[in-house]
Amino acid sequence: MERLQKVMAQAGVASRRKAERLIQEGHVEVNGVLVTELGTKVAADDKIRVDGVPIDREQLVYYLFYKPVGVISSVTDDRKRTTVVDFFRHVSERIFPVGRLDYDTSGAILLTNDGELAHKLMHPSFEIDKTYIARVNPIPTSDQLRQLSSGLKLDDGMTAKAIVRLIAADKEKNSASVQLTIHEGRNRQVRRMFSALHLHVRKLKRERYGFLSLNGLHPGDSRKLKPHEIKTLY
Ligand code: URA
Repeated sequence: MERLQKVMAQAGVASRRKAERLIQEGHVEVNGVLVTELGTKVAADDKIRVDGVPIDREQLVYYLFYKPVGVISSVTDDRKRTTVVDFFRHVSERIFPVGRLDYDTSGAILLTNDGELAHKLMHPSFEIDKTYIARVNPIPTSDQLRQLSSGLKLDDGMTAKAIVRLIAADKEKNSASVQLTIHEGRNRQVRRMFSALHLHVRKLKRERYGFLSLNGLHPGDSRKLKPHEIKTLY
């Protein structure tokens, strides 16, 4: 048995707090009976309706996916490009990606049908660490590396502190691999951080999402999260 507001949040109806309000304000029925008590628990086969509309109670599933370059991080694409969900045709649950990676970025991305967890992970206050490897040119100076780590000005404000490490530098090609860990998730943030320093990103890969790494996966591969991993994310 689970609390009614938790089941509603997981089904993506609303945040837990908003679900509580919907219950208290008399919008929610369980098996045809109006429920306004917050302590109510529901079983897997109880039928829940919000304003008369049944909520979808699929089994919750969680996947870590190694997104290849050239794939859109959304469920559908109006330009008919391949999306991350196209790699999950064998999955009957209606999963969606948690956050985004650019079309030209590869790496770790979660897919789930758990609206509550997705909402939480995408909220800026959750501050989940994301680690990227960027191939950039020219080779960054130590001052540029310092600016990346201490914070720099983008057109949507200063970036927070980041962990930055020069992994390799190729003098002949005048390019370098830089590992960057940030907990913010602004649009194209890593590319914009490098670009603010006049460094060109040739390749970008997210190698870790929180504690989840791409170990053992190749581009296009996915794996189910283990129960303890799901628990740790919550
Ligand atoms: N930062 C970017 O610039 N692109 C991504 O895909 C992710 C983070």
